[in-house]
Amino acid sequence: MSTIQAIRGMNDILPSECSWWQQCEQVFRELAQSYAYQEIRLPLMEYTSLFLHAIGEVTDIVEKEMYTFRDKNDESITLRPEGTASCVRAGIQHGLLYNQVQRWWYHGPMFRYERPQKGRYRQFHQFGVEVFGCAGPVIDAELILFSRRLWQRLGITPYLNLQINSLGTLEARNQYKETLVEYLQQHYAQLDEDSKNRLAKNPLRILDSKNPQMQTIIQNAPKLTEHLDAESAEEFAQLCAILDRLEVSYTVNPYLVRGLDYYGKTVFEWVSDHLGAQGTVCAGGRYDSLVQAHGGKDTPAVGFAIGQERLVLLLQQTEQEKISNTPQVFVIIASPDATAYALQMTERLREQCPSIALMVNCHAGSLKSQFKRADKSGAEIALIIGEEEMHSNTISIKHLREQQAQQRVSFEALCAQLKG
Ligand code: ATP
Ligand code: MG
Repeated sequence: MSTIQAIRGMNDILPSECSWWQQCEQVFRELAQSYAYQEIRLPLMEYTSLFLHAIGEVTDIVEKEMYTFRDKNDESITLRPEGTASCVRAGIQHGLLYNQVQRWWYHGPMFRYERPQKGRYRQFHQFGVEVFGCAGPVIDAELILFSRRLWQRLGITPYLNLQINSLGTLEARNQYKETLVEYLQQHYAQLDEDSKNRLAKNPLRILDSKNPQMQTIIQNAPKLTEHLDAESAEEFAQLCAILDRLEVSYTVNPYLVRGLDYYGKTVFEWVSDHLGAQGTVCAGGRYDSLVQAHGGKDTPAVGFAIGQERLVLLLQQTEQEKISNTPQVFVIIASPDATAYALQMTERLREQCPSIALMVNCHAGSLKSQFKRADKSGAEIALIIGEEEMHSNTISIKHLREQQAQQRVSFEALCAQLKG
């Protein structure tokens, strides 16, 4: 019988890798706190209609990537492919979006039925931020600064480039679409199959094509930036001015259109050339029309999402620091009769020195084999607790990485040493 394997494209994150994951989770949490964003936790599944409506029927996600099934009540259910739609749903459902500002963040798994490859999986994780009730470029700038600070804290600023664009208002975009379609129709014979399909349904997406054969046509196409409405152009100029003032480097990429239908005005991506084909680590933008489209009041909104797998890959490839999960202190129980005393002392140490990782040898073994385990564990210090220690109310301490004689000390002296 063949052994059971995980589902294709769904990864185990093993203990040896988890410290990278924890590193970005910890830093992201701290930053969300320092920018005054509140966490929201959302279900992993929603009614399919939410995503059809929110993401748009002519998008990669809805056309081919959704994990959709019927539940026992014959309802169509979908595993969430992203977090924005659920935030909007929750905001409207609980009456949190009307006449107030919400600054939310979330973190968790997302599901898309894609062809698994490096940086692209069927279960993956996103950090996301969504702000409701704030129009204008200042909040757009804040989100960019938030993400930039995240890269700084993680040590990966040199490996990420910011690209920005403005998609204009819906009306301006619709006008531009006509100009674009006219141009593309003149070059119909040179379009690839994908682009021919998109021409009628979602022509803007053609600009997003990665096909080398399409690049000349795309580069010669009329540019959205040259067809912006006055308001969007003004806000985009303000955003650029803020970024200049704060010395955030960026490139204006007129081909940046983003995959989802709901974006308008500012869009941005942080892209790395250290990740191969899947270079976008963070993507975001404004979606001022989405809340109203879901039955809410007219509410400006903006957000971004970071792919954690790609972030971790970048941390690993550029050899950044990670959280250490090795024990710092290894406790050797030198005699079975001293077991309870050893556990009691270790508990007291955990109370006194809560930030120190203490590993107790919980399965028997000779003193020699326990010292071997202590050495292998990576710990700096071994504590040896046997009958003699128990009777004298002491603990023996041995530095594993330095030449120093073993010492027997009181609990208080040990605490002082560990704290030092
Ligand atoms: P792509 O062009 O790479 O397919 P997308 O436009 O579909 O990206 P978004 O929906 O904007 O991506 O998601 C935001 C981020 O989430 C992406 O920039 C990426 O870092 C990450 N991401 C998206 N899909 C996947 C996936 N299948 N596996 C891993 N990470 C992903
Ligand atoms: Mg995609």
